[in-house]
Amino acid sequence: MTHLLSLIFAIMACLCTGACSGCASNRQTPAADGDAAVSEPQPTVTDIPAFDADSAYAYVSRQVAMGPRVNNTPGHARCERWLVENLRRFGADTVIEQKATVHDHAGRPLDINNIIARFNTSASRRILLLAHYDTRPTADQDPDPANHDKPVPGANDGASGVGVLMETARQLGLTPPPVGIDILMTDAEDAGTDEGENSELTWALGTQYFMDHLPYASADEMPAYAILLDMVGGVGATFRREYFSQRFAPEINAKVWNAAREAGLSARFKGGQGPGVVDDHVFVNRGGIPAIDIIECENAQTGSFPPYWHTMADDMSIIDRSTLRDVGTVVLHIIYNETAPASAKMP
Ligand SMILES: [Zn+2]
Repeated sequence: MTHLLSLIFAIMACLCTGACSGCASNRQTPAADGDAAVSEPQPTVTDIPAFDADSAYAYVSRQVAMGPRVNNTPGHARCERWLVENLRRFGADTVIEQKATVHDHAGRPLDINNIIARFNTSASRRILLLAHYDTRPTADQDPDPANHDKPVPGANDGASGVGVLMETARQLGLTPPPVGIDILMTDAEDAGTDEGENSELTWALGTQYFMDHLPYASADEMPAYAILLDMVGGVGATFRREYFSQRFAPEINAKVWNAAREAGLSARFKGGQGPGVVDDHVFVNRGGIPAIDIIECENAQTGSFPPYWHTMADDMSIIDRSTLRDVGTVVLHIIYNETAPASAKMP
């Protein structure tokens, strides 16, 4: 996950319209519609699969056991193979490996592989779910300076979102979804820097590449919207509507938070608006797909990211099955409450 507060001013300069002069600080932005959005239709599908938190936890643990998933390292290569093999095994219609070489902020080449698992490819309505599987090469927020050049374990920052999406993919294979689902395990999200002009462009390199090389043949195939999961496994995590999500895709936030309420998870998915985060969803929105980010960025202890963020302490000890379960439950509610358009193509 990218930096939280120091970047928000730069990204706002890029994203805000002239009407946005009041948003000099995301924390001063008035609370959004909070829990007031109640106009979403009630669920029409009753057989929503149960999210298996033990399974998701195992997927998180498995990634951490591979070692840091830093680009151009064996741990990253192990994770690539594991993702591709299992997404195929779960029954994805197709798994695309989008390989390329990009360059980090210091000009170093990074071999990336965006992995896209497509379910129900014949559907005309599609949803994109994404999470980054790379991990930060430097624990530069660690309290011990001796750790600043070491790679983080990335249990929450990387593995948690992927773990939830892997369990989601497994469920998609067992219970075909009513709409098309594309799961994007995106790469090179977390190798950026906060220093320098346009530093936000040094983050989310895999997603930037994906948006420049979309695997869709026509506009009809484009996802209707996207949901990003990042840092969704921490002990005691709560989520509010992230600033850029609310600014550019408020209707998707409303859909997600309504699903959480209907699932009885409003203690986890709280009302009101949270801070802004430069993350993959910013670039998905820039590319024209409304996208939101479910992310822990208002930790009770720090007021921003959790205290182990970008440190060596981001390990399995801070992962909580109940957080994974609640996020995964909301994702499955979203998927299985979607209805296929009447014009959906027949298989
Ligand atoms: Zn990060």
